[in-house]
Amino acid sequence: MTRSMLFGVPIWSILQILMLWTFSNGYIPWINFSENKIWIILMILFVLIINDFHFYCIHRLIHIPILYKWVHSVHHKSVNPSPWSSLSMHPVEHILYFGTVFWHFLLPSNPIIALYQLHFAGFGAVPGHIGFDKVEISAKKAFDTHAYMHYLHH
Ligand SMILES: [Zn+2]
Ligand SMILES: [Zn+2]
Repeated sequence: MTRSMLFGVPIWSILQILMLWTFSNGYIPWINFSENKIWIILMILFVLIINDFHFYCIHRLIHIPILYKWVHSVHHKSVNPSPWSSLSMHPVEHILYFGTVFWHFLLPSNPIIALYQLHFAGFGAVPGHIGFDKVEISAKKAFDTHAYMHYLHH
């Protein structure tokens, strides 16, 4: 909880401020809903793909032994993770993790979708650390959380 609040939330906030400042001052062009509805809808869907792709790449990177030792081992100190484990990271890992927002500097996007990307990363890490494989919606129906493997990874 301390690592999340002391480093995670401030780094998340700094990147959010940087992103909003960059968009609002015109350093990065952005499109709005009335200009290109189809692309905006696609970008909303791409947030999920960007999140998984970005996480996969940085997670592979920080499992390189030298980076694991100095950076990612902090996150893996949570051997029996809880929701608070999700952002319990080394500050370098926070920067890499929330760096997912920079995809919206490369792809035509919108500040609201970039905000969604950051929040999806911030809150989306929680399910991977609570240990549930499925969410039951009735006695016979459940859907896969796709997060259980990360729980086992810890
Ligand atoms: Zn790992
Ligand atoms: Zn984890």
